[in-house]
Amino acid sequence: MTMNPAGEPLPKTYDPHQVEGRLYEWWERSGYFRATPDPARESFTIIMPPPNVTGELHLGHAMTAAIEDALTRYHRMKGDVSLYLPGTDHAGIATQVVVERQLAAEELTRHDIGREAFLKRIWEWVDKTGDTIDNQHRRLGASCDWERKTFTLDEGPARAVRTTFKNLYEAGLIYRGERMINWCVSCRTALSDLEVEHEEVQGNLYHIRYPYEDGSGYLTVATTRPETLLGDTAVAVNPSDERYAGAPGKRVRLPVLGRLIPVIADESVAMEFGTGALKITPGHDPNDFETGERHGLPVVNVLSPDGTLNEEAGPYAGFDRFDARKAIVAQLEREGLLENVEPHAHSVGHCQRSGDPVEPIVSTQWFVKIRPLAEPALAAVKDGRISIVPERFARVYENWMENIRDWCISRQLWWGHRIPVWYCGECGHQTVAVDEAQACEGCGSGEIQQDEDVLDTWFSSGLWTHSTLGWPERNADLEYFYPTSVMETGYDILFFWVARMIMMGMWNMGDVPFRTVYLHGLVRDEQGQKMSKTRGNVRDPLDAIAQYGTDALRFALTTGSTPGNDIRFSDDRLEAARNFANKLWNVGRFVIGQTEGQEGMEGWYGTPPREHRQDRWMLSRAQQTAVRVNDLIAEFQIGEAERVLHEFIWSDFADWYIELAKVRLRNGDDQPRRVLAHVLERVLRLLHPFMPFVTEEIWQRLTAVLPPEGNLPESIMIAPYPDPKARLSEEELQARREADAPASDEVELLIDLVRAIRNVRAEFKVAPQASLLALIVGNLPLVDALTGEVRVIQSLAGTNVIRFVEERDAGIAISQFSNTGFAFDDRGDVVHLVVRNITVVLKLMGSVDLGAERERLRGEAASVEKHVAGLEGRLNNSQFLDKAPVEVVERERERLESGRARLERITELLRDLGG
Ligand SMILES: [Zn+2]
Ligand SMILES: [Zn+2]
Repeated sequence: MTMNPAGEPLPKTYDPHQVEGRLYEWWERSGYFRATPDPARESFTIIMPPPNVTGELHLGHAMTAAIEDALTRYHRMKGDVSLYLPGTDHAGIATQVVVERQLAAEELTRHDIGREAFLKRIWEWVDKTGDTIDNQHRRLGASCDWERKTFTLDEGPARAVRTTFKNLYEAGLIYRGERMINWCVSCRTALSDLEVEHEEVQGNLYHIRYPYEDGSGYLTVATTRPETLLGDTAVAVNPSDERYAGAPGKRVRLPVLGRLIPVIADESVAMEFGTGALKITPGHDPNDFETGERHGLPVVNVLSPDGTLNEEAGPYAGFDRFDARKAIVAQLEREGLLENVEPHAHSVGHCQRSGDPVEPIVSTQWFVKIRPLAEPALAAVKDGRISIVPERFARVYENWMENIRDWCISRQLWWGHRIPVWYCGECGHQTVAVDEAQACEGCGSGEIQQDEDVLDTWFSSGLWTHSTLGWPERNADLEYFYPTSVMETGYDILFFWVARMIMMGMWNMGDVPFRTVYLHGLVRDEQGQKMSKTRGNVRDPLDAIAQYGTDALRFALTTGSTPGNDIRFSDDRLEAARNFANKLWNVGRFVIGQTEGQEGMEGWYGTPPREHRQDRWMLSRAQQTAVRVNDLIAEFQIGEAERVLHEFIWSDFADWYIELAKVRLRNGDDQPRRVLAHVLERVLRLLHPFMPFVTEEIWQRLTAVLPPEGNLPESIMIAPYPDPKARLSEEELQARREADAPASDEVELLIDLVRAIRNVRAEFKVAPQASLLALIVGNLPLVDALTGEVRVIQSLAGTNVIRFVEERDAGIAISQFSNTGFAFDDRGDVVHLVVRNITVVLKLMGSVDLGAERERLRGEAASVEKHVAGLEGRLNNSQFLDKAPVEVVERERERLESGRARLERITELLRDLGG
């Protein structure tokens, strides 16, 4: 089936909305996205990071999909069995909070309606909104195998979760215990360390006096959370602190409550912080908890789950935590126990979800004993079985994994994978089971109760690389697609998710879950700010698509980006990307117009003509571009690959080759037609993974008007990716480059010459209709080559009289040239240009106000000098050189080079103008 029958006229402008939905629907219906194991071929697998099932697409998703889909499409075209597996996540707290908010609008809580009814409401909402994000991914052009779409709460992944839990429990790697955890008062659940965001806040340091029991004065402690003193069970000093010699062993009276607590000596106390005496609150501080364990101190928890103080708080029981702070400070002040208060900036943990300050409390929760899982996961990155792109994140990962702490996996939520543990009312035994337990494993009693809590969402997404492929079943898919190829995600979830996938994948499968971790940067706004609803700087990808088209959005999000570095996103980028799609469309229209219905197009696919220097140059450039793009994709330099293609298409192909070819076509030379068709067809394939829609649309229309050659399939997305290295050896490629080099040099000289003359026209503000007189002086082969391109120079540089002379005749020629009958006065309206090894003498024919021009050039010189000095400063700054990414340094160097060249040029111009 051809998408566009030949003969249908090509619309003047590219309208993405006429194209995208139609093509996507056709691709999906044709089964191009499906991946079926084929042991004779390589596999390429990307598992999509599952977005929140009830979520909406944001730019981060769009960037993820743009990169993943580009890689998938590339490998599919390379002939690999390519699987892009989509899925969604139940997203524990995030989803539950939304439905609780809906309930709150009806003045209900989940407890009012009960677990069953609450879950029913969430499921109803998931059913209503659950495919929104899938359809949004379709609009992005993501070539996912939708038949394999998986939801974390599907039966397969749920079974994988329970199986993993049971296996880890039986291996002693999951335990239930009383530990310090992070508690969110507003979500009413435990959080893992990763779900807590630390923020610097301006608070106070309160200096509080604890009187000695024996009446010998007092000890002063400093704290940022005075209300926690209610839970103090000791005061600690450093044993080497002479200020407190003799204090350890004594007891002090706890303010407010009057409880007597010991003064202890502990090496961990920092003598220089505060007063050097530290209140120890094992129930509400992770370090104090550890100190308490070392000294056998009791643990007192003064906080209720809702953030009010409990009966341990004595007179303050029932107070909200923040009210209690004020009241206690007031009481201390009244009693003369508050020595002073000083402002103090310190880091406070906040719930990632609700933004509320997190309370460290001791609580009974389920934990994963992480070290035995972390060690092999650490080794896999260290020994290169998994590589992380960019590499600098490997060190971040290693450092984190070396210091990892046990993972709290129970959440006091209802939405999620319920913990598969049943407690026996008779004997107290814990039964852990994959299937619903009916009786206690210990005593056989039916009096068992399942744990009320659910598992951390990351527990199920940690299994995602294999639970989506069927694990714990050992099937053909798992065999073929695991380990997957690339895990592509934002660097911000390296620990949340990537590290856990590695640990869980290696534990369950005995092998790494993926070969490469590709971390992209965050999408920020134009000023480099994080996008957020509160800042109001969020750009909706669907609006961007409606305005600019999907290809433009994908290209804008990824082109020029480098792995791991944030990008600044703006509508300028979108506009530039849309202009590129339009440029390509115009190129397509031109080439189709030139080839449609033409005789003699045979051979366009495999054997385009290479006799003319312009054709050789173009074919050589196209081949080098293809080599470079393949190399860049292999190094995961997606953004650079796109930039290279953009430059080739826009500059080499459209601005130069097509313009050169037009001159030849006008003069009856037919050869460029086949070259145009050949290069465009390849360029479309090269660009397809990045801009899937516009390339398919042009490709369909182009191949419909050309003789069928090359055994091309019916869609570009399953056509082979151009990869010269797959057909030719390094030596053959080198030999070809060398054979094409003379022709390429000549064309590049021609281009430089035209460009130089155009620059003079622009710089001296020569009217477009005014033509120039040019004398071109050079040695023989070059002059010969340029003589052959005289029409090009006339037409593209706007010179109507051109003379060519050899170097040895230059002197006479120039003096004759000066007397060619045109007005040549002593204002010096002759400009000498040096382009590579030729000299061009241009006569401006008196049409320029040279005085004004001199003034303008002097002004420009001053500003360029300043710019150059700034760049030199930066590039001489060793700090900048150490810290900036290589690409940035490279770009700054290029800017400096071009600034210096410009300055040199201005100096020359001023000299030509006699000043
Ligand atoms: Zn919270
Ligand atoms: Zn029992």
